[in-house]
Amino acid sequence: MDLTAIDFPDICWRYGVFYCIRTGTGRDKKYCPWSGVKTALGEIEQKIWCQIAEALIERRGESPLLKCLVEWKTAHNYAHISKEEIRKEALQLHVARLFDNPLWADFVPFNRKYRPDALKSAHLVTVINECCKMPGEVTQEQIDHALNGTIACPCCGRWSLFHFCEEQMENEIGMEMTPQ
Ligand SMILES: [Zn+2]
Repeated sequence: MDLTAIDFPDICWRYGVFYCIRTGTGRDKKYCPWSGVKTALGEIEQKIWCQIAEALIERRGESPLLKCLVEWKTAHNYAHISKEEIRKEALQLHVARLFDNPLWADFVPFNRKYRPDALKSAHLVTVINECCKMPGEVTQEQIDHALNGTIACPCCGRWSLFHFCEEQMENEIGMEMTPQ
């Protein structure tokens, strides 16, 4: 496949597809599993998709960033998935460029750790979620997309009710009350 003609949106992982392909007849009948990925380019076999994603990332000189995503996923591997699965998920994240998406739940902590410059232009807000009752940073975009008043807690990741950190509210009120 000609990589020069492919960009990240072309191979963005829309959803996984799975088929059981039947070969042969009668006693020779066999079922062969086929796992693929639905992309803008059509369905691509999962293994091939991973190879294309790896090659594109390397071509763009973004291998260090992929390494960070793998490290991040490994450190937050709550579902105890295999190394291979972690790498696949990191590739999905990378191709979707979630590290640039302020709606990604890990946007603030991931970039704080690996790409502090990416947070310079971000709209950060300090909130306290009901579950952990600890101040943490989220993006304004995450607040704008709150579901029934809940957002993913910056401390534990659970969706729960939140309120703005008091310190910040005082500042805001203070600013409002400052005479012109
Ligand atoms: Zn929490």
